[in-house]
Amino acid sequence: MRVLLAQMKHETNTFSPVPTDLARFARGQALPYYGDEAYSAFKGTGSGLGGFIDLAEEAGAEIVIPIAANAWPSGPVEQSAYEHMCDCICEAVAKGCDAILLDLHGAMVTEALEDGEGVLLQRIRAIAPQTPVGVALDMHANLFPAMMENINVAAGYQTYPHIDHYETAVRAGKPIFAMLRGESAPAMAWGNRPMLPHVMRQGTDDFPNRDLQILCREMEQNGALTASLFTGFPHADVYNAGLSCAVVTDNDPALARQYRDRLLDRAWVDRERFVYHIEPLAESLARAKAISEGPVILLDHYDNAASGGTMDTTTVLRGIIEAGLEDVAAFAIYDPEAVRIMLDAGIGSNVTLSLGGKIDMPSVGLRGRPMEVAGRVKLISDGRFRNLGPAYTGVLMDMGPTVVLDTGAVEIVVVSRHQEPNDLGCFLSLGIDPARKRYLMIKSRIHYRAGFGTLAKSVIECAGDGVCTSDYSMLNFRNVRRPVFPLDLVNDPNP
Ligand SMILES: [Zn+2]
Repeated sequence: MRVLLAQMKHETNTFSPVPTDLARFARGQALPYYGDEAYSAFKGTGSGLGGFIDLAEEAGAEIVIPIAANAWPSGPVEQSAYEHMCDCICEAVAKGCDAILLDLHGAMVTEALEDGEGVLLQRIRAIAPQTPVGVALDMHANLFPAMMENINVAAGYQTYPHIDHYETAVRAGKPIFAMLRGESAPAMAWGNRPMLPHVMRQGTDDFPNRDLQILCREMEQNGALTASLFTGFPHADVYNAGLSCAVVTDNDPALARQYRDRLLDRAWVDRERFVYHIEPLAESLARAKAISEGPVILLDHYDNAASGGTMDTTTVLRGIIEAGLEDVAAFAIYDPEAVRIMLDAGIGSNVTLSLGGKIDMPSVGLRGRPMEVAGRVKLISDGRFRNLGPAYTGVLMDMGPTVVLDTGAVEIVVVSRHQEPNDLGCFLSLGIDPARKRYLMIKSRIHYRAGFGTLAKSVIECAGDGVCTSDYSMLNFRNVRRPVFPLDLVNDPNP
């Protein structure tokens, strides 16, 4: 038995000015991982591909991995990069296999396509119409018909922060191996509701998504092979952006439809609770200043690298310095130019430089605003570390050449590649113990909770600047279906 495994993951923020070329999918290497290199990179890790590999090996299958490509969220994927990844997968499919397991995101937009995954799956089906296909998806997937009509099984993450990549792959893959053994005939139902939940209200520690995901797990205890509620990714301005779900049963389409409707109805009833209410930055920082016990997380959530942020906006960092907060570590400002200047200056040097704010954000009408900073080059690193977990445990992260710039009040991490701060390793690898800092400025939205959730004594959400804004009025939606809540007043869930 020969099983094809592949990873092609990107959450596309169509408002992001950050380009998405093939190198971005390589996370610091020249090219994505192919073949044996992909196997070695992911075998034994807590990733989706790690889950697929273990499952296939347990089944005694020969494994083929044509490509493993994963990029931090950013703007639409360059068409040539997309075609390259699809060609790799489709050429391997054409050589023949008994099953296909794909670790996808589900919100990939390319320069030419609003549903990158759907077109890939159509191409695969055209080559291998009968081969079972199982797909692991992110909770931020925006489901389209082309995606769902060309697969047998879908499973989405049930945690946000996402710490169940491995388990999701196992949920997607198990029914496929049961199919191969002739023991299962998956039946899938999927659907959506016209609603765009705010990402800041999608965490699974919080109502209503916590309860929706519990309901999915209960369904999987009661007859569903997989049940997945996708909160969707609103910053991909595509027709089907928003909340959806998929339920797979063993040869019971009526039960799949019943469970699907129950999930969607529950989400729709609680739609108001998915709306995020924004606090002005000055008020947030004043509240932070009054808190004596650290660490206090200062969440710069408008500029989150794991949602397409430039990671170089300076509004919150500037506010922290102007408010006079002390004993702060900030992760991070993306500024390869500033890193180069500090590398040249060397450890221990005092520098004054223009930091961040180098990237304009025309889609939200913002220009980059660099800030003048003076400090000492405290530490220089190659920026590589392995995640301690629970998110992506054991997977190699690469921030590129990285410098810690110490201003006295703030230790600012300056990176050359985007990196979501979802893991303590991002500070520990740079000699900063986050537990001993009074304040941690973090450019994240929900994922920081994976590594920092238990460490934080309190969390202050800071509305700065960036293309991950929670203020939908800043986003010029052109393509999402209308009416859609909360952009429009919608009373009918099936308009
Ligand atoms: Zn996600």
